[in-house]
Amino acid sequence: MEISLRRWLDHSLPNTMNLIEHKVHCPYCAESIVVLIDNTIESQQYIEDCQVCCRPILFDVSTSFDGEIDVTVRHENE
Ligand SMILES: [Zn+2]
Repeated sequence: MEISLRRWLDHSLPNTMNLIEHKVHCPYCAESIVVLIDNTIESQQYIEDCQVCCRPILFDVSTSFDGEIDVTVRHENE
């Protein structure tokens, strides 16, 4: 009985998104900010404004086969 309930819960969870929280330090103001990263994408580069100083941070994200992410942040014009 318990097992079938758990199975039903697993199936009810949305699996279209796979966002994980990652903490980085802003290259401008050095504040730590939390960003959501999609680890289903092997390699991605995008710009997101810092939540503290609002300056554009360039994110360079790579994901290994086991879902481990590696995030590098840089100044936009570096
Ligand atoms: Zn900042």
